[in-house]
Amino acid sequence: MNLLELYPEELETFFLKLGEPKYRAGQIFLRIHKHLSSIDKIYELPKKIRNYIIEKQLITEIQMIQHEKVSNINLNDFGTQKFVFEYKHEKSSLSRIFEAVWIVSEKRKTACISSQSGCSLNCTFCATAKLPFMGNLATWQILQQVYKMILYNKNYQEKLTNVVFMGMGEPFYNYDNVIRAAKILNHPMGLNIGVRHITISTAGVITGIQRLIQENQPFNLAISLNSPFEEERTKLMDITKKFPLTDLLKICKEYIIHFKKKITFEYVLIPDINMSKRHILELVKIAKQLKYCKFNLIPLNTNFNNWRAPTELEVLNFQKKLRENDILVFYRGSPGKTINAACGMLALQKVHSNIIS
Ligand code: SF4
Repeated sequence: MNLLELYPEELETFFLKLGEPKYRAGQIFLRIHKHLSSIDKIYELPKKIRNYIIEKQLITEIQMIQHEKVSNINLNDFGTQKFVFEYKHEKSSLSRIFEAVWIVSEKRKTACISSQSGCSLNCTFCATAKLPFMGNLATWQILQQVYKMILYNKNYQEKLTNVVFMGMGEPFYNYDNVIRAAKILNHPMGLNIGVRHITISTAGVITGIQRLIQENQPFNLAISLNSPFEEERTKLMDITKKFPLTDLLKICKEYIIHFKKKITFEYVLIPDINMSKRHILELVKIAKQLKYCKFNLIPLNTNFNNWRAPTELEVLNFQKKLRENDILVFYRGSPGKTINAACGMLALQKVHSNIIS
């Protein structure tokens, strides 16, 4: 058990079992999730309780093992930072290494976090897919990515505006831990990040979207689309074999109706693969059918299969053609590309040899 992943009502049970009053739950929740205090600094708690929590290791931590920052050469970057974190269990060989990115733009400070260490999926344009899959991250490991990045950038706490589950891994293959982390980030006694500012990005795991709807979890949904054609999408993302595009679009419609919210389609642009007039026409068709959606264009950031990245002009042309059809479409560049922190690039480049050995 890690106290970081308990809701206040669960912390109440924990304290009652220790013979302590219920209000200790509120005290500790506020201090660990809002003020990001370490347990030895939570002086409201009696010393014997603090010592008990420390001795029993009821709050363990991930370690930051690398940090890189983009110098502001490229205006898109605004000082984007990449963090590599590690958790090693003291007594077993269990180890998790994962990355998170602090993305800074004029209006937003976004924590892009991982839900898994590596990824069990095999999207052809993604460097994470080339890593060995090391497992799901626990709720507290997900939360601590955000907290550690805030603490590193001490003065940024008020300014963190968004959290996106777009780092390593497929969030819906770690549904319970991801949703619990998202709810704690959203909690009024924690960082209180609005549900409209927390986005879960999926490769298209329909069962995860179904659960979001059934459980009425109103977090933003982003879908990595990358092709509007079933067969072509299967070649890019083999998860399409398991969750066909037609079914995925149906559940998107349900999400939109249920939450009355737009879905974001992420579209990695790969010249000669998914940028033709045919693709544009089909994307327009999908957008008109769903009505309530938007597109986020991402130029290819990796170089597998001899693919090349689109030029700025190609991206802008693609965007223009969608816009001419009244489609809401954004292009925000690739912040963090120079430090391998942009979309599809999280692959532990500098520690890769260590985790394989
Ligand atoms: S794009 Fe996302 S889901 Fe696909 S392999 Fe990469 S991390 Fe996994």
